[in-house]
Amino acid sequence: MSVTKWVYAFGGGSSEGDASQRELLGGKGANLAEMAKLGLPVPPGFTITTAVCVAYYENNKAYPAELDAQIDAALKNLESVTGKAFGDPANPLLVSVRSGARASMPGMMDTVLNLGLNDETAEGLAKLSGDKRFAYDSYRRFIQMYSDVVLDLDHSIFEEILETFKEENDYSLDTELSADDWVVIVDEYKRAAADELGRDFPTDPREQLQGAIGAVFDSWMTARAIKYRELHDIPENWGTAVNVQAMVFGNMGETSATGVAFTRDPSTGRNSYYGEFLINAQGEDVVAGIRTPQCLTQEMREEMGDTQPSMQEALPDSYNELAAVFDVLERHYRDMQDIEFTVERGRLWMLQTRNGKRTAKAALKIAVDMAESGLITEEEAVMRVDPAQLDQLLHPTIADDAKRDVLATGLPASPGAAAGVVVFDSDEAELRAKKGEPVILVRIETSPEDIHGMHAAQGIVTARGGMTSHAAVVARGMGRPCVSGAGGIRIDYAAKQFTAGGRTVKEGDFVTIDGSTGEVLAGAIDMIKPELSGDFGRLMEWADKVRRMKVRTNAETPADVQTAKDFGAEGIGLCRTEHMFFDADRIAAVREMILSDDKDGRVAALVKILPMQRADFESIFEIMEERPCTIRLLDPPLHEFLPHTEEDVHAVAEATGLSAALLMQRAEALSESNPMLGHRGCRLGITFPEIYEMQARAIFEAQVNVEKKTGIKPVAEVMIPLVATAKELSILKAAVAKIADEVASESGTVPVYLIGTMIELPRAALRADDIAVEAEFFSFGTNDLTQTTFGLSRDDAGKFMPDYIAQGIFEKDPFVTLDQSGVGDLVRIAAERGRATRPGLKLGICGEHGGDPASIHFCDSVGLDYVSCSPYRVPIARLAAAQAALKARG
Ligand code: PEP
Ligand code: MG
Repeated sequence: MSVTKWVYAFGGGSSEGDASQRELLGGKGANLAEMAKLGLPVPPGFTITTAVCVAYYENNKAYPAELDAQIDAALKNLESVTGKAFGDPANPLLVSVRSGARASMPGMMDTVLNLGLNDETAEGLAKLSGDKRFAYDSYRRFIQMYSDVVLDLDHSIFEEILETFKEENDYSLDTELSADDWVVIVDEYKRAAADELGRDFPTDPREQLQGAIGAVFDSWMTARAIKYRELHDIPENWGTAVNVQAMVFGNMGETSATGVAFTRDPSTGRNSYYGEFLINAQGEDVVAGIRTPQCLTQEMREEMGDTQPSMQEALPDSYNELAAVFDVLERHYRDMQDIEFTVERGRLWMLQTRNGKRTAKAALKIAVDMAESGLITEEEAVMRVDPAQLDQLLHPTIADDAKRDVLATGLPASPGAAAGVVVFDSDEAELRAKKGEPVILVRIETSPEDIHGMHAAQGIVTARGGMTSHAAVVARGMGRPCVSGAGGIRIDYAAKQFTAGGRTVKEGDFVTIDGSTGEVLAGAIDMIKPELSGDFGRLMEWADKVRRMKVRTNAETPADVQTAKDFGAEGIGLCRTEHMFFDADRIAAVREMILSDDKDGRVAALVKILPMQRADFESIFEIMEERPCTIRLLDPPLHEFLPHTEEDVHAVAEATGLSAALLMQRAEALSESNPMLGHRGCRLGITFPEIYEMQARAIFEAQVNVEKKTGIKPVAEVMIPLVATAKELSILKAAVAKIADEVASESGTVPVYLIGTMIELPRAALRADDIAVEAEFFSFGTNDLTQTTFGLSRDDAGKFMPDYIAQGIFEKDPFVTLDQSGVGDLVRIAAERGRATRPGLKLGICGEHGGDPASIHFCDSVGLDYVSCSPYRVPIARLAAAQAALKARG
């Protein structure tokens, strides 16, 4: 039997793995292996596979039997490649131990640096480096980090020791401590750790390594890792790998440095290097935000007005070498890279590369630029942008001429603008957001414990931290506007307020943040509509070239119809006519109609409504020109239209001459115990045919009028809602067609129209073959179809939905993402049966799912002709439809 390979080596001129083994080696491990293979300077090391993590949890936290021997062999190899030895005072091998899952999980997993140090090897390192201060500074960092991450000791123990020591010696900065001071601190640290542990701090490097490996695997199951996976749909059974790598030191003096960089600007997508570094510092210092990092390039420094020299200026040779590596990596991976590096005494080392997270704006620009330069194809560019992420660009920004009352300025960490009330605590942010309140989370800095608050917030402000701080990276990933490092803000968590420039802002006060300029502004400021220009327009053109399905919109006001058309809507998929009645001057006439107890009364009210409806349709047809417009006849849940206040009742009484008391009685008689399943949709058309007749007349007359006025021939698709039987449809279709004939003979112009139905009840889906005899098109009303398939009230599901999702009963809210296996089955059946009766039957979807990327993929797979969604989702749907078509092509 062959033995499973659990450990893969890399570096020193060879590599056992490569980038294709991401599942086994994790993202970090696979890319380290790949970089080593490309001949780039990677500190040698080895990766313990994700399969070990999976086995560890499957076997009650026991390791595979062969693992120890394989680690020993990998260590031997590492010793021979580096010419150093684990625990050898003469030439000690020190390693870093890092996690690395298949998908990147920033800040979620723990890292240990300088592992292998003990009293003997620290002394050896001091001799070897000629820098005792460096050696003992590294040693104390190791004890602190290892105690925190592996031994689970409270890090405040060490912070207190250091603070007390500094106070006693009149030091204010760590840099003032001498080598001998650090020796004293190390001693105290070890003693404190031993007191807490009840045994000595581990000195055997192999034992230290074993502990660190276990800690990485254990951190896969910490609460914050679990929460992150939940938010990002990362399955638990992927596991994490462990990367053990020879240490290189960025803290060996003024020619050493450490940094993080992107091959292009991750905020704007601009094709220039972007990053931060610190001279004489070690790994985590850059991200931790303790010291203010310096800019990578001179250009960036000048733009930011930073006074510290850039890496390009301070370490020009290493910078040039790094720039050359950037180019190799971008060409190799054909995508923007996010990189970590260290310079040890002038020698460059690559510690990580991965495809960089980016804002939607940057994703668009990078995809378009790369396609235009020939690095990727147009189709690849279409696949590179996450449709859901486009949402960021389809939301308002602050108008150029808006009055900006600036409270404070920080870094433009994640673009877009957001307004909301200030909160200082992530739980509070989540609580208020659940109640529908927009919130801006304001923190000194954020940590992985704040993920839920950041998710709930519209925007994030931190008082500390750079462009690669936790807040900045996570906010960009989530698409939340963020201002980081707004140093002028003084936060008082206890008093729930912050002060800035002498002004005080309390919890609950409104602020607006502009993540593109870094400004924090007082009050809620006016925003403007986005446009599809430049890169966005270009990518949309490419998407349109490949997609099969058309994209329409759900809209009824001229403003919404115009917005949707500007975003590329190819028609209206759902015009909900009842929404056109909500205006104050119309609702009275509608109430009059509903509350009339005879046909004459209703007709009198309808006569008032007809010209208003006709005018609405005319403006819609004028905007949409000859694009098809699906107009749904009235489908009002009656309770939404009944008069609520005495004033409402009196208004109807005045218009009708009926007594208020009588009207109240009628309103009561009309109230239903289950309005969603009550007298709505086509049931209203069956009982009160004059309503649909009036609407049909308004539609056809509007078509005729527009044609006469403009020469445009509007196309109407008259849609009958909530049909369950073919008979309902045949009765109503005949009534509507009769009106069309009347209008044609009255006007001498024949309107262009189809009559079809919504499929939004299970019976209609199952009997689609009968219904298609009458229906000239189907539009899937998946809101009601979801409601009726699950027997789940649309209006009440919110109360228990969170529990259903938390307990995994529903993976996603079925009102947001189509339940493909249940509701989707009905859609598939209806499509097949409908087209069996009427080949080529036009099929669309107009439920909320029409704007959800995953549901759009499903719609493509069952052969729908179009999806229809709200105006702001039209570009998202165009891109998702293109990706679905490309995926279907394989
Ligand atoms: C539907 O049910 O999916 C639909 C689009 O109609 P409404 O949401 O108006 O009921
Ligand atoms: Mg419906």
